[in-house]
Amino acid sequence: MMADDLIDLFKTKISLLQNQALSGGIVAKNLHISDNGSGELTLYGDFTITLKVLDLTTGGAPNLNSLMTFTQQVITSKLRGGGYKSGVIYFEYNSSTKSFNFRKNHTYSIRYNFSCNARVVQINMLSQLKGNDFVLAVVDSIGYQFTDQYGKKHNSGGLAQRDGGPAVVSYNEWRKNKYIGVHEFFHTLGLGDIEDVSKKGRLMYHLGDNTSYNISDNERGDMMNFLMRNISDMTKGTYSYTNLNYNTLNLLSRFLKDTTNGFKYNKAKFR
Ligand SMILES: [Zn+2]
Repeated sequence: MMADDLIDLFKTKISLLQNQALSGGIVAKNLHISDNGSGELTLYGDFTITLKVLDLTTGGAPNLNSLMTFTQQVITSKLRGGGYKSGVIYFEYNSSTKSFNFRKNHTYSIRYNFSCNARVVQINMLSQLKGNDFVLAVVDSIGYQFTDQYGKKHNSGGLAQRDGGPAVVSYNEWRKNKYIGVHEFFHTLGLGDIEDVSKKGRLMYHLGDNTSYNISDNERGDMMNFLMRNISDMTKGTYSYTNLNYNTLNLLSRFLKDTTNGFKYNKAKFR
């Protein structure tokens, strides 16, 4: 682990030296802020969110294209309508200079008026994965089982690491429940699972007996907060989310190898 970390660090340093742009799955333009003068900032921007899908199934995934199209449409539509977060402590915004005062804090309500467009694209080899790209790997099956708050065991149709990914789905489970891809990707965008049986209508409810697949305003606010982690980046006009310490390829490789996840997939395709 220590050696891996050191290697990661070197790779990051080398890519910095070579001045390679790390792509990242979030790109935004037309960013601007409007301040209502009484503690509410409205953030505007046009976002393109790219999720790269890697097919690692043994027998191939004939329905992959339609599942990807569905996932792209659902991500785009679920992020529509903006989001809201109150009680956000951030630096004080000066609307006349359009800049933040990094010496002064202020508590804001943030209204996210982002227009988000999702792109779900297939990649065929690992060299198409760069920097902190978002990835969804498709495997044959997932052995990991989880126990819910009521003590009942469940199989996992997908697994993801919060706040950046990677995410993995079982192809057979994805075919049975088309929303699994979106569910796992929304973990990537920072959302947690819901087990409250009064919230079976929510997309992040994960006990299998969903009645619907809704996203709440708060959840949308949380995802928009992830899309624009550092609000002062809003003043740049255009933005590409890069995190030099976040290497999706290494994280995916470790996630796939982690035996507690019980992933079955075609290892020869991971190249
Ligand atoms: Zn989940």
